Amino acid sequence: MPSQAAYRPDEPTDSAASPVAEDMAVRPALAGESRTGKAADDTRVTPMMAQYVEIKAANPDCLLFYRMGDFYELFFEDAEIASRALGIVLTKRGKHLGQDIPMCGVPVERADDYLQRLIALGHRVAVCEQTEDPAEAKKRGSKSVVRRDVVRLVTPGTITEDRLLDPGRANLFLAIARRRVSDTAWCYGLAAVDISTGRFLISETDAAGLPAEIARLEPREILLPDGILDDPDLGPLWRENRAAITPLARDGLDPTSAERRLKEHFGVATLDAYGTFSRAEIAAAGSALYYVEKTQFESRPVLHPPERGAVGAALAIDAATRANLELTRTLAGERAGSLLAAIDCTVTPGGARLLAERLAGPLTDVRAIAGRQEAVAFLVDAGDLRERLRSILKQSPDLARALSRLGLGRGGPRDLACVRDGLLAARHLGTVLGITPGLPRDLEEAASVLRALDTSIADDLSAALADDLPLLKRDGGFIRQGFHGELDEARELQQDSRRFIAALQSRYANETGCRTLRVKHNHMIGYFVEVPQNVGEDLLKPPLKDVFVHRQTMAGAMRFSTLELGELEAKIASASDRAVRIELGLFDAMTQRLVTLSAAIASAADAIAVVDVTAALADLAARLAWTRPVVDDSLSFAVEGGRHPVVEAALRRDGTAFIANDADLSGDGAGRILLITGPNMGGKSTYLRQNALMVVLAQMGSFVPARSARIGVVDRLFSRVGAADDLARGRSTFMVEMVETAAILNQATHRSLVILDEIGRGTATFDGLSIAWAAIEHLHEANRCRALFATHFHELTALADRLPRLANATLKVTEWSGEVVFLHEVVPGAADRSYGLQVARLAGLPHAVVERARTILSELERSDRERPKRALVDDLPLFAVAAVAAKPGPQAPKADPLREALDALDPDAMTPREALDALYALKAQR
Ligand code: ADP
Repeated sequence: MPSQAAYRPDEPTDSAASPVAEDMAVRPALAGESRTGKAADDTRVTPMMAQYVEIKAANPDCLLFYRMGDFYELFFEDAEIASRALGIVLTKRGKHLGQDIPMCGVPVERADDYLQRLIALGHRVAVCEQTEDPAEAKKRGSKSVVRRDVVRLVTPGTITEDRLLDPGRANLFLAIARRRVSDTAWCYGLAAVDISTGRFLISETDAAGLPAEIARLEPREILLPDGILDDPDLGPLWRENRAAITPLARDGLDPTSAERRLKEHFGVATLDAYGTFSRAEIAAAGSALYYVEKTQFESRPVLHPPERGAVGAALAIDAATRANLELTRTLAGERAGSLLAAIDCTVTPGGARLLAERLAGPLTDVRAIAGRQEAVAFLVDAGDLRERLRSILKQSPDLARALSRLGLGRGGPRDLACVRDGLLAARHLGTVLGITPGLPRDLEEAASVLRALDTSIADDLSAALADDLPLLKRDGGFIRQGFHGELDEARELQQDSRRFIAALQSRYANETGCRTLRVKHNHMIGYFVEVPQNVGEDLLKPPLKDVFVHRQTMAGAMRFSTLELGELEAKIASASDRAVRIELGLFDAMTQRLVTLSAAIASAADAIAVVDVTAALADLAARLAWTRPVVDDSLSFAVEGGRHPVVEAALRRDGTAFIANDADLSGDGAGRILLITGPNMGGKSTYLRQNALMVVLAQMGSFVPARSARIGVVDRLFSRVGAADDLARGRSTFMVEMVETAAILNQATHRSLVILDEIGRGTATFDGLSIAWAAIEHLHEANRCRALFATHFHELTALADRLPRLANATLKVTEWSGEVVFLHEVVPGAADRSYGLQVARLAGLPHAVVERARTILSELERSDRERPKRALVDDLPLFAVAAVAAKPGPQAPKADPLREALDALDPDAMTPREALDALYALKAQR
């Protein structure tokens, strides 16, 4: 009895036959054959090449994945680029206009991996599929080409495949549009879409806020209309961004057609239900939708209605501050070592994404912050409930992304299972929360969304889906035995036929007396009998000749078909076709049902994420003894026993304790400035950063690593920490430092928190000292913000006598047997010395150099004593910052409402009717 496996129709075939009916169907790279022999006329363009060239011409900015059988092939320059990028073999394939055609290819089954690498390298890929059955093409003639079309553009911002996506990070593309508000000013509309989850975010900002808003959203791809792309002022912004930049022609950008596009997409008569949107926002949203259509072709992702962040709702953090504070990634670009990595205890991918989003955009609304804190506090206290919720959450997979793939027609059986598990978890969470009394608002809202969700489809999915699911739906095998009568029948028929073939094989073996006779299958000739050459010769003669029809002679073997085998083959094929068709029908029906429910399921996914983030922050707070900060509208900043979460975690791993420190910058009407001096390695940067992170954590609704904290809401957070040369941009350390300092001094308000570390070190001592000095005065008199200022210029400590809201603090150090010992404790007062030489010695500077430096130092100190700079403080009158700052700039013109109204008009974007209305309105203002 031969093994069952011998009859599997889907086993690898022994021929590289291709299912396509065209002259370049077989991959020469695989089959090792050359097809150039018959090309008598070298300049002939094959019909297939003509098709390829036409499709490629329509997608010039993409690498073209051209489907041929089980491969995506790339040709010409695309092949050269891809073979280099992917490290795959570059071969040749026929000729085009007399030249060899370079070619390489990737198997369809593994295309995701290759796509991931190409996308990561910044390429865009157009996926071109066969859009008809090759058999159909064959009917039109043996030389006819299978119809093909591009079905999708794969770009960094539009990917949906699990393997291509980072589970803990949103994958946004950002569309930007702008409208003039005056001769010199624009307002920018931003629309960020995550196709993989359906999230659709909208906001508006001015030119100054644009970099911070982009940094908050951290898109993978930015779509820019020509006007914005070519604006020289914005050039550096695009060059510095990690995102891929995609230029966009004007299409879809005028607000009127954008609005129409939005209404059509969401099937609404007016957008009012989603909020009030400015014209720039609508234009951006329209162009985002346009890009969805452009990249997804016939497929339509399930998008949530656009969501608008209220103006001023987020703490403004510019790109430099975000990078310096290493909020979501370190300066080296890693997630590990960032604040996000240190606080992320979420257990679902959706939760991880929401946590990242909250961390990137802390709030400024005291009530909203209190709402989140309330929920975290509730779960800090209710430890058992928290554990219960977290163990349910662990069973909840990436519901949002699976749903999106199903909606796009790209889903597989495992996506159905994923939605099923997500829905079951949602139901379970809803039940547990439902019986919990006294839920705070955020959790109550999540609970009611979860309880309202109809999860009956999850039970149907459980009944329908098999236990072990294949990745792809196309071969079937994912519907449970016993779920569908007709399907079971078709499957039995297949099984029976296979048993019948096994019987046939033993019968043929008996009849021919050949024990090694085998019935096999391949795609070229279907089922056949294979015997050794010598037996084959007998089968060519009567009487066996009547049963066995010769098909092929191989080296040492011969192949025959028989009437019975042919009949069986037809039966098996039709049964298997029927089975797969039934399964695909069931798949489509289930997908359709899910898509109809997608809005409710998406809300449930959001609710699950809220529960996860809340429970995760509570878990963190409970484990690490974090406390709930008081966040109010005052100008307080009073932290007791504050710690740096990332440094503390690193020290904990080494078994070292972190020294907690207080900070008080509270003011009435204006904030206080703390000037910190102390030796290198004393802990100044750590102290500065931990207080900035305290604000971020408090305003995102988390507890904070401190014994107690009271923080008056901060509107903008600025940090200028450390120095990095930006040689790629052609800026020296000092230039970068000055650009960032300028931004702070120009933008910080009395509600802001400013962290400045080592200003003025990149230049000569007196230059640096003067700049640091003037910057402090400006912060104190003009910005009037809360600030922490670390410096090596001890001269500055004298400013405390002159500036009433400035205090000195230092990092405590002691000396023990000639060695400096850092106590990392912040105490009032100024450092008496900088211990630079001790640190240099600790770092291993040669003894001779340290000793020589010591001599030079005492000489310098002696001359300084004779001409002390300290006197400067008394000599220099306090820079009249406030007066200068208050003086109007030379070009500030008098406000003229008529002129402003005129400036706000954009004739290119108006309908004739709108233009006429605007004219009347202007006239009325006279
Ligand atoms: P500075 O800015 O003064 O040069 P850092 O803030 O970079 O010093 O701190 C140097 C090192 O000292 C840190 O990497 C950390 O290991 C340790 N450190 C800083 N602050 C503390 C603290 N509060 N408790 C314990 N160790 C600390």
